[in-house]
Amino acid sequence: MNVYDSDRMADVLRPLGYSLSNKPDDSDMVILNTCHIREKAAEKVYSELGRMNKIKTRKKNHGSNMILAVAGCVAQAEGDEILRRAPFVDLVFGPQAYHKLPEMIARVSRATGAVLNTDFPAQVKFDHLPEVMLGSGVVEGSSAFLTVQEGCDKFCAFCVVPYTRGAEYSRPVSDIIAEARRLADLGVKEVTLLGQNVNSYHGVAIGGTEWGLGRLIREIAEVRGIERIRYMTSYPADMDEELILAHGEIAALMPFLHLPVQSGSDKILKAMNRRHGSDHYRQIVGRLVKARPDIALSSDFIVGFPGEKDSDFDSTMKLVKEVGFIQAYSFKYSPRPGTPAALLNNQISDEVKTERLKILQDELNKQQLVFNKSCVGRTMPVLLDRLGRFNGQMIGRSPYMQPVHLSAPEHLFGTIVNLHIDVAQANSLAGSLEAVNHGKNVA
Ligand code: SAH
Repeated sequence: MNVYDSDRMADVLRPLGYSLSNKPDDSDMVILNTCHIREKAAEKVYSELGRMNKIKTRKKNHGSNMILAVAGCVAQAEGDEILRRAPFVDLVFGPQAYHKLPEMIARVSRATGAVLNTDFPAQVKFDHLPEVMLGSGVVEGSSAFLTVQEGCDKFCAFCVVPYTRGAEYSRPVSDIIAEARRLADLGVKEVTLLGQNVNSYHGVAIGGTEWGLGRLIREIAEVRGIERIRYMTSYPADMDEELILAHGEIAALMPFLHLPVQSGSDKILKAMNRRHGSDHYRQIVGRLVKARPDIALSSDFIVGFPGEKDSDFDSTMKLVKEVGFIQAYSFKYSPRPGTPAALLNNQISDEVKTERLKILQDELNKQQLVFNKSCVGRTMPVLLDRLGRFNGQMIGRSPYMQPVHLSAPEHLFGTIVNLHIDVAQANSLAGSLEAVNHGKNVA
């Protein structure tokens, strides 16, 4: 979502004469778009700010100005602290305020002293954002993000999201369809619907009825030009029947789902305030596989949540081995200020967390490699969305999000081609052109 948000900030700023640059030394403004989900991410902000201040000072000595801004969830959670620890920062604003960038920049150039904006309502932001534009990161390739939902009301005991992104908000159906059509007009073939809890989506449709994500996906699949649909991140307890069935009925919906389970221990899941147990999760997976037999899963895991015993960790390993994941993210529990779990007194030592994480990741990596190897010899539709380092090289995405390396003539860039998979590695595949398909859904 931060990638999407950064692109939208660029859209807001373009009419003011700004364009994207990847060199801070040449830039009139630098925006750090930050993440607060784990401590490491938040701490990185301050070291990066130190680096940016050096550039800002150098520019000042040469008589030019650089606006330094901190955006995103660290800004939301630690706005005042940022201004205290890094008083040279001009602008601090949260994820719901970036549509106000023009106004904030005007205030910075008028005022001395920093501007702080950590307002909340997401609806206001979406109402004031410009249409997605050509040349912004969102639509450069043939794959694009589309935010449909933001914020979260679940309050998992470990998680800062409800405090930084705010309450759950679903964009109206008509706005989303309009954005999807616009993306398709700009050449986008694959959309990834985004939300902190994307499958909690309950947007208002024409006539005032509420649609869930399954219904919304059906409508997006009708948009001409959109050939692939994905969504992330999902909350297991919100996988309703309509959405599960959509996996079997909508060809454009890719057979790959990121469904974070966090732990395999019912005791820990309860302490995390998750609204699913481990068997509930297994059942959801079973229903998904029934609807779409070739579906594959990825997940998120937290090890070392307060009170996690060896037996709880064993339950996680058991679930991993039973369900099987083709890809996953796993983390040591990181206490976040303001969240209930940070206050628990049965915290787990870093040593134990490190040990458990290694065992878990070894298993997850093994499963990923086994799946990648099982793809060798198969033919897969691959969306060619990135150019490789050398002439003629391209990188695409399989239905399962695996990067696939290949050689291909340039005119195929941005299309979906059928590739024969020749080689599997830990994190990627290599393939060769078999038959080119310029037509409709090949997935
Ligand atoms: N909405 C998703 C969460 C997205 S945050 C869900 O309901 O599962 C992305 C991932 O970061 C989470 O799935 C979780 O595994 C991890 N995470 C969040 N807070 C964390 C914390 N305090 N410590 C370690 N990992 C955390």
